[in-house]
Amino acid sequence: MRLRNVRGSREEIEKNVFVVHEPEQHKGSWNRFFRNENPLHIEIGMGKGMFICQLAQNNPDINFLGIEKYSSVLIRGIEKRKELELPNLYFLRLDAEFINDVFDKEEVDRVYLNFSDPWPKDRHARRRLTSREYLSRYEKLLKKEGEVIFKTDNRGLFDFSLEEADIAGWELKNCTYDLHGSEYAEGNVMTEYEEKFSGLGNPIHRMVIGQKL
Ligand code: SAM
Repeated sequence: MRLRNVRGSREEIEKNVFVVHEPEQHKGSWNRFFRNENPLHIEIGMGKGMFICQLAQNNPDINFLGIEKYSSVLIRGIEKRKELELPNLYFLRLDAEFINDVFDKEEVDRVYLNFSDPWPKDRHARRRLTSREYLSRYEKLLKKEGEVIFKTDNRGLFDFSLEEADIAGWELKNCTYDLHGSEYAEGNVMTEYEEKFSGLGNPIHRMVIGQKL
């Protein structure tokens, strides 16, 4: 993803009330942070936040945390959030590599990964957010019945992710190579990238994986 530097975004994020500062302090107590016992869903690499803002609007009884590494992108999500009354949605500026510093064992119900960066070179495979290294991080923070839901139009990355999930011992709960033409299309919430790439005619792939119980 090509990033345009948005001047002042880092400073704005550092003082923004919708961003959780020092999220490590809430490890193990996110329910206390949200002041309820609702399930917790997180999106990693949320980009400009269209997907997670819409989900939070549609599901007021679920707590959402949007995670994004770069201030210049996150600032766009924050702008959307300002226009909406959404007590169930907050953001973290965080590199997902450190996700286990922020969530305790079995604290999260669902992880969304949407159009994650493909890192096409083999030597960068472990940086892919669906690599076995990342799956083992998610395994720690997810509840037993928790799941990872991954969408992309990148067939190579999708096939890699299916293989990694299999090698890491996850169960494939469902899988489609054409989400928009499938039985799962109804209720699908689009991301910015999904709008762009499906608009170009690319089929959207989606997989749902969970722990073998
Ligand atoms: N999910 C959005 C969508 O579907 O429109 C954005 C997709 S964009 C290709 C990938 C996003 O993931 C970028 O905003 C990037 O900064 C973010 N990202 C990549 N690696 C990350 C990491 N290790 N931790 C957090 N965010 C990351």
